[in-house]
Amino acid sequence: MSDQDANSPLRLKVAILGAGAMGSLFGGWLAEGGADVCLIDVNEAHLDAVNQVGLRLSTDGRDRRIRLRTGRPGEDCGRLDIVFVFTKTMHTRSALAASSHLLDGGATLVSLQNGLGNLEILCEFAPADQIVIGVTTYPADFHGPGHVSSHGAGKVKFMSADGGSPPRLLQLEAALKRAGVEAAVDPHVMVAIWEKVAFNAALNSICATTGRTVGEVGASEAGRTLVRTIVLETATVAKAGGITVDFDAILRSTEHALDHHLRHMPSMLQDVLARRPTEIASINGAIVAEAKRRGLETPVTDTLLKLVTIMEASNGVA
Ligand code: NAD
Repeated sequence: MSDQDANSPLRLKVAILGAGAMGSLFGGWLAEGGADVCLIDVNEAHLDAVNQVGLRLSTDGRDRRIRLRTGRPGEDCGRLDIVFVFTKTMHTRSALAASSHLLDGGATLVSLQNGLGNLEILCEFAPADQIVIGVTTYPADFHGPGHVSSHGAGKVKFMSADGGSPPRLLQLEAALKRAGVEAAVDPHVMVAIWEKVAFNAALNSICATTGRTVGEVGASEAGRTLVRTIVLETATVAKAGGITVDFDAILRSTEHALDHHLRHMPSMLQDVLARRPTEIASINGAIVAEAKRRGLETPVTDTLLKLVTIMEASNGVA
């Protein structure tokens, strides 16, 4: 890209609200795709490192540094086309409240976060026709200030919150594709969101409560039975709400993880061990709440919710 292009008023302006593992990964990729990206976070050490030497991005054997703008919550980022929210779900509301000015110019507000209930929180800050909701299967790890990585394939699926197909969806799809991200508009994205929540409700909460890796959970039939039961409970709740997930496909994914991701420590386990709050409320908690609204029982998902909540409370972060 020429300098003239870099300063062009036509250049896509993107803010990433919550620039940890995923936010920095997507921010780095979007910048590589030509967007003008500003990372906004409360992690001063991370922002300082990015300012000093650039973001170090390690993906599939490629290691490079990318220059990006950074900002603290509340700081002005100038005109914006797209704002991605990539905080953990329990921080979405407070992050948006502190940075709601980012949306004043009508920027598209995007969430690809895990869990349920993201759309409802985003709707507190912007009209539905400004909001895009989706899901991603790209993984990311935060290695310390200024350095994130991702390995393997992934996808992004999304739709507009009001179900329409406005130009902002095409703008987002084009930006992601220019960044090398496999991205597609999917009017049935709620199915994919529920399928991912079923996977996470099972593996994250069981690993977090047992203190075991995915492979260690899969080493016993008891672990595999618990996983299947939580997936079944979640699929039943989704179906009662009119969303038919592919139960067999979710089970194939969980079985694959149990067989192959032997040393993987899901983020919820990492959060419990580091005495940080977890995303349990928007995963198991949201499934249990939806089940109650529909008069259904989800005893195993609920038990895991309560166990993780006990751990959070004893860690002083509930
Ligand atoms: P992370 O903890 O690495 O990053 C979250 C960032 O948000 C942190 O840098 C934190 O400092 C920042 N933050 C917290 N409060 C803030 C505020 N008020 N204002 C600005 N920034 C604030 O988390 P992550 O792994 O990047 O996950 C982000 C979301 O993406 C989660 O919902 C997660 O479930 C989802 N997700 C993660 C992965 C993955 O592999 N990491 C994959 C798919 C989806």
